[in-house]
Amino acid sequence: MNTPQFDIVTIFPEMVTPYSEASILGRAQKKKLIAIKTHDLRDYTSDKHRHVDDTPYGGGAGMVMKVEPFEKALKKIKRRFKKTRVILTSASGKTFTQKDAKRLTKYNQLIFLCGRYEGIDHRVEEHLVDEAFSIGDYVLTGGELPALVMIDAIARMIPGVLGSEESLEQESHTEEGLLEYPQYTKPEVYKKWKVPEVLLSGDHQKIAKWRESKMKKK
Ligand code: SAM
Repeated sequence: MNTPQFDIVTIFPEMVTPYSEASILGRAQKKKLIAIKTHDLRDYTSDKHRHVDDTPYGGGAGMVMKVEPFEKALKKIKRRFKKTRVILTSASGKTFTQKDAKRLTKYNQLIFLCGRYEGIDHRVEEHLVDEAFSIGDYVLTGGELPALVMIDAIARMIPGVLGSEESLEQESHTEEGLLEYPQYTKPEVYKKWKVPEVLLSGDHQKIAKWRESKMKKK
């Protein structure tokens, strides 16, 4: 299989790359386990001033992002022969979950469209997009953070990206509604705050039982 590719279409590529090139995502890209590419939406405009937005039909505050640049960008970016999914970042989309993250690891290419201003002309969602996701019930200034949040959650489930696949086994949300048990590290006592005795016992059965009892149902 080819390297899974994430494409981010944005008017602020410079916001995205510092995160996507650092730490685990950066290392995974160097190892060619994933590729994250950013695309400046303004490169797909046709006027001298590279406008990506205009006033809303029907009136109202703010500006709305135009269809045409997104359509042109997708035409260029989409790899026709691959399993591709186009994802819209939207405060009114369905809430992104761990289950979605796992499901989306099956695609060769995921293209994220980032809105700004009052959002994107609805015809983009109607005609160009496969899924629209919100990362929570609040409104952000743009889709760049949501795109990075989703890419981070998906990429860490791609084999090799985390290094140790064990880290994924007993994590929060691996099973619907289940949250991870509390974790501790050295020292044993810090300011009279103690690590639970059972974790120092060396009794693996007891530890496993304790951890199970501490895994919370949401
Ligand atoms: N007027 C829109 C509304 O009321 O739903 C909000 C637009 S918001 C200021 C600009 C862009 O940020 C959106 O087009 C979307 O791309 C992104 N965005 C904002 N909040 C988001 C969220 N919770 N999840 C995903 N994307 C979000």
